Amino acid sequence: MWLVLLVAIVICAAALAGIYSRPMGFLATFWPANSILAGLLVRARQSNLLLVLAGALIGYEATGFIAGDPFWLGLQMTAANMIGAVTFAFVFCSLETRDRDLTRVRAVLSFIGSAIIAAVVAGVAGGPAWASMGDSNYFDGWRTWFSSELMNYLVLLPGILALPWPLPRPRFTSWSALLRHPVVPPTIALLASVGFGILVANPVAIVFPVAALIWCALVVPLPLTCLLVLLYSGATMFAVKLGGYGLGATGLSEELIAAVHLGVAMIALGPVLVASATADRRRQFAEVERAATYDSLTDALNRGAFLGRAETVFAGLRDARQPVSVIVFDVDHFKQVNDAFGHAAGDLALISLSAVVRASIRKGDMFGRLGGEEFSLLLPGAAAQEAVAVANRLRRQVERLRTALPSGEVLEMTISVGVATSPATQTAMSEMLSFADQTMYEAKHAGRNRVEFVEMPA
Ligand code: GH3
Ligand code: MG
Ligand code: MG
Repeated sequence: MWLVLLVAIVICAAALAGIYSRPMGFLATFWPANSILAGLLVRARQSNLLLVLAGALIGYEATGFIAGDPFWLGLQMTAANMIGAVTFAFVFCSLETRDRDLTRVRAVLSFIGSAIIAAVVAGVAGGPAWASMGDSNYFDGWRTWFSSELMNYLVLLPGILALPWPLPRPRFTSWSALLRHPVVPPTIALLASVGFGILVANPVAIVFPVAALIWCALVVPLPLTCLLVLLYSGATMFAVKLGGYGLGATGLSEELIAAVHLGVAMIALGPVLVASATADRRRQFAEVERAATYDSLTDALNRGAFLGRAETVFAGLRDARQPVSVIVFDVDHFKQVNDAFGHAAGDLALISLSAVVRASIRKGDMFGRLGGEEFSLLLPGAAAQEAVAVANRLRRQVERLRTALPSGEVLEMTISVGVATSPATQTAMSEMLSFADQTMYEAKHAGRNRVEFVEMPA
């Protein structure tokens, strides 16, 4: 119930904002209600869709009542508004089953297509209402409704779709850090170019901010880019309404208004596409980076990443004169596991072993696969006693581990563990690793399923 009320209030507030920003004689240029509804329909859970629609119906009708629209006209407008939003949501959701946050270029293209279809349909439904309000004919009504609807979708909806939810908590450190944020220079460039364009007072100046917008799209995250695009479109449309860009407040034909709507919307789409492609690249890069950092079978750090990161941790510990421990362990007689149960079973054993390790280490500890069935742990700050205790706990956990195989058989395994500790991190990582490795072999020779320890010479 609260959802219906909330949607009703939001839609009513958005529609009233649209009505009171209406220039005399023109259909509202700024009409956020339909975009909000379309965005809600796309993002709402399926079970809530009817509640959202009911809330929207109440919201639009309440607006018509407050604005004093004749009943039938108000109903027609409400129908046109809702039909447009529903059409958008239906077409967009059919085209895009995932990536509805526009983080892929394909999704942006689906978005544009859906917006055009929805605007055409909304125009057909709203054209008669519009024509009956003024003395214009049906086609003029359709064109005005279509262009206004399309511009609002193109300008407002990307931000609504891309907005992360729940909102991330902004982190404020200091004013100087805020001013040095990468978002600041392109935003200033955008504001300056919009301002300069208005000063030039020529319709062509509407395109002045294009470069700044593209700059924003390249460095600013997608949701924030959408917000800046909104800022540009809003400021431009507002300036046009007030007669800026040398257009003059009076004498703006509906044809010209429609053309300006579409022009601004087209300019707004460029940065959204660029920001979407940039987000896509960032995600691909993160995937590649992950693949280059983690071992795909066990999800432990791979050898290179483990050694690289360990060096950095070592340097910090050395400066702070803190202890460090390195553990190396290797599965006992693992070749026999493969021989008896097959390689796939061996893989399963390594996966369950790694899960046990990951669950038992602390935050800040590092877990890497050195190769084959040999792994290593880096325990920053851990002195000898603690490290040996960790190693023994791990050895016992693995001993107790039972891996069920698809064949119904159950696998057991043990590990041999070598621990090396340096009380004030005076040695190099590579040296400690080789000491821990030798110590692990001592555990093998001493009968396996054991922990051996060595303290590094200073
Ligand atoms: P030890 O107790 O001396 O360590 O004996 P071991 O049999 O474990 O040692 P060995 O080095 O002879 O054999 C290691 C085996 O581990 C051989 C190799 O096929 C297997 N192995 C290495 N990596 C993987 C893997 O990713 N999956 C599977 N299934 N087996 C692996
Ligand atoms: Mg082994
Ligand atoms: Mg081995």
